[in-house]
Amino acid sequence: MNVLVINSGSSSIKFQLIDMDKRCTLGKGLIERIGIDGILNFQPEGGERCVRKLDIPDHKTGLDYALESITDKSSGIINNLSEIHAAAHRIVQGGAAMTGPVIITPELLKEFEKYTPLAPLHNPACLLGVSAAQVLLPGIPHVASFDTAYYSGMTEEAYTFALDYDCYEKLGYRKFGYHGASHRYVNLRAAEFLGADKTDFRTISCHIGGGVTVAASIDGEGVDTSLGYGTVCGAPMGTRSGDVDPEVILQLISRDGYTAEEVKEMIYKKSGLLGISGISSDIRDILQAIEDGNARAELALNIFTRSIRRFIGALSTSLDGRMDALIFTAGIGENSDTVRSMICKGLEISGIKIDEELNSGCRNEAVISSSDSAVKILVIPTNEEMMMAIEAVETLNNN
Ligand code: ADP
Repeated sequence: MNVLVINSGSSSIKFQLIDMDKRCTLGKGLIERIGIDGILNFQPEGGERCVRKLDIPDHKTGLDYALESITDKSSGIINNLSEIHAAAHRIVQGGAAMTGPVIITPELLKEFEKYTPLAPLHNPACLLGVSAAQVLLPGIPHVASFDTAYYSGMTEEAYTFALDYDCYEKLGYRKFGYHGASHRYVNLRAAEFLGADKTDFRTISCHIGGGVTVAASIDGEGVDTSLGYGTVCGAPMGTRSGDVDPEVILQLISRDGYTAEEVKEMIYKKSGLLGISGISSDIRDILQAIEDGNARAELALNIFTRSIRRFIGALSTSLDGRMDALIFTAGIGENSDTVRSMICKGLEISGIKIDEELNSGCRNEAVISSSDSAVKILVIPTNEEMMMAIEAVETLNNN
């Protein structure tokens, strides 16, 4: 069975065709700059990457080009569209009602629109992708996977903010949590890798990429997380601030004359590694600048790693007294031994001891803790697309 995984952003679509019988990717691609000056990237597995500049005014045109490249006579990976048996769509915010993946019906699509105010940057783009795919691939089931579903088992005390209760009851403000597919995947893989029982497995997983989430999981379900109602809180990220004293936000508006829009622009796009360093949101640029003696870059890295360490400590208290593994994943978590090492310094008090030799240069699935560490530390490359494809197949089998 071949599943086409579709992850739509406001001006981009990531796609990947996965053969679920062999559990392998046949090819993947990225459509960028939709509505600006389109670019299509496509790479068959083990084949040459092709990049084309195209006129891509909307998501439907972009997806049409994606399907064309997948079925291309010379560089394609399948002969025709009938070899795509299902589509799996990423929907960032599914509200409290969506506790697992679902087959998308016209009624449900309308229901999803209700969640747009909860994720205004992400959800409209996800829905554009679904609509385009349903037109271009009408004969197959389309399954939605929700980032937020991983945390649907969070207790009321974990997801309720200590605000006037009306904020929750009347206005719907609560913690949801994000990067669910990534945390679900690395938790499953970590249990498999360690030969542990996934139904009795307690972890802290750190998704550290452009966005950062630290999640506490019991038996493969999120019980608490550093991200909240939106996607800006928790640890600092590439350009997002992470937690800020709300008084600062209030003062920026009431004392310093910032508009709400300007504050939003600052906390989402001009903060985090970029904001502190004044150099870049990319950790590789920050590490290079530190080598060149830049003090602000060093400060940015110290704040970044200190904050993630604090979340690991805080969230470990949600694991009912036992932590089996600490997992690093995503662009930075998988690739930067410096960041992993800095995060772990100070966690020895929780029985977390890194082996610097194992950590050094590690970029693949591996245990990087010392033999006397009470908690296994692992690097597990994430694969959100595979997780979505697995969820789609499971959903179809259950129906
Ligand atoms: P996104 O959240 O945008 O999907 P990724 O998980 O792809 O992000 O992570 C992007 C970040 O990963 C980049 O900003 C970069 O800092 C970091 N990164 C990628 N490759 C490397 C590498 N080889 N060494 C260190 N950091 C890396």
